[in-house]
Amino acid sequence: MQVFQQYIDGVFSDGTAQFASLDPATGKPWARMAEAGAEDVNRAVEAASEAFFAPEWADMTATARGKLLLRLADLIAENAPRLAEIETRDTGKIIRETSAQIAYVAEYFRYFAGLADKIEGAHLPIDKPDMEVWLRREPVGVVAAIVPWNSQLFLSAVKIGPALAAGCTVVLKASEEAPAPMLEFARIFDLAGFPKGVLNVITGGPEAGAALTSHAKVDHVAFTGGPETARHIVRNSAENLASTSLELGGKSPFIVFEDADIESAVNAQVSGIFAATGQSCVAGSRLLVQASIKDEFLARLKEKAEAVVIGSPDDMATEVGPLCTLRQRELALDLIARSVEVGARLVTGGKALDREGFYFAPTILDCSGVPEAPSLNNEFFGPVLSVVSFKDEAEAVRIANDTEFGLASGVFTQNLTRAHRMIRKIRSGIVWVNTYRAVSPIAPFGGHGLSGHGREGGLQAALDYTKIKTVWLRTSDDPIPDPFVMR
Ligand code: NAD
Repeated sequence: MQVFQQYIDGVFSDGTAQFASLDPATGKPWARMAEAGAEDVNRAVEAASEAFFAPEWADMTATARGKLLLRLADLIAENAPRLAEIETRDTGKIIRETSAQIAYVAEYFRYFAGLADKIEGAHLPIDKPDMEVWLRREPVGVVAAIVPWNSQLFLSAVKIGPALAAGCTVVLKASEEAPAPMLEFARIFDLAGFPKGVLNVITGGPEAGAALTSHAKVDHVAFTGGPETARHIVRNSAENLASTSLELGGKSPFIVFEDADIESAVNAQVSGIFAATGQSCVAGSRLLVQASIKDEFLARLKEKAEAVVIGSPDDMATEVGPLCTLRQRELALDLIARSVEVGARLVTGGKALDREGFYFAPTILDCSGVPEAPSLNNEFFGPVLSVVSFKDEAEAVRIANDTEFGLASGVFTQNLTRAHRMIRKIRSGIVWVNTYRAVSPIAPFGGHGLSGHGREGGLQAALDYTKIKTVWLRTSDDPIPDPFVMR
């Protein structure tokens, strides 16, 4: 069995304990992972803290930091096939997607590399004639980055990239489910030439997560995961008063008007809910379709859902692979059963597949007229689409916004003025019009409400890893006047 080690202070080691990681395609263990105990977490944070103040990193120019990030990007591009293979094996995500996504992760690092020496301060036109006042943008400090198991190289890149560009140091905790890609990433990072301790990669579950996020030397917590875990993170940060950015789940509306290009909308909906086996925070998991085209749209969608190629995730022909964990499959079965009980109609799927591994059939559940169906309000993190119909634009907006989440949304219409009205009225961090599931390092990504706060990607992402220092410099040679009056 392959063994993956943790990475602390530039050294690879086995961790306090080890655990087996399961191959979701077979349900059987395939590799052993290091598991960080409280002592490992503490060492990792201490290493990051020391590295933060050490001259090798603290005195490095921003341009030099950018060059190191570029080197890392090249190494990721070179090693993308191996990283993709490992992510596919450990998470069950299909190789077709991991190959493309990891190659793109290199582009994310290139983008943040470019930002490193564009983080500027400011000079203030201060209201005192004998003073020069300016703002320095300084790195926020030690960052605890916590990621879930899905798309973790990508979700780590949008934390590590801007954090290192800004001059921070990082302790990254991979998920206890499928951490192999992050531990392999650490081996690649080690080759890039960063000073030791600048990035530390550990794994472990809630215990390690709690020790990390409440650690006194952590200044910022960048978290991606579920809303319930986010509540723990925020409570933990009551200890160190670290700032937080939270990228959480979603129940994103995918809205199709009768004037939409139907073929295109059907394809985008397939991508929005069945790609990555639905294990995507931006999954378009609520289809809102105009009543006049509902039957036609559902018939075409059903046909596509039933024709999806389900198979081994390491086969390039596979379109839908297994879920990452058995727990997700159980959650899906439970939510579907409870929805059917209150009147939702199963259009297709709704069951585990009769084969080894954690496979689940692409599922469509018609919840029209059943607003209380649990499937409309709960994130599945699986290939399950809940459908409702609407009469007109106003009703579409009302249903779209009837959620505690606010991450993404999709609008399909050929009517330009309607598209603009919808963009304005939908409450979500991302609106895709006549497309879905597009991302770029240049575009901010994030939501509000139960979907969290903070944005990853774009210029602002790097600024979020900085804090402002205000500098006052007196330019007069005269003695300081009256010491009892504030200047
Ligand atoms: P999760 O919340 O269970 O776990 C996420 C991470 O938090 C893991 O590394 C876990 O070990 C850690 N953790 C657990 N308890 C902790 C604690 N008490 N303190 C600190 N850390 C702790 O999420 P998951 O089930 O692994 O992932 C799925 C969730 O992630 C979904 O809700 C999904 O929507 C969300 N997600 C969001 C985005 C986004 O960018 N918005 C992207 C991908 C996934």
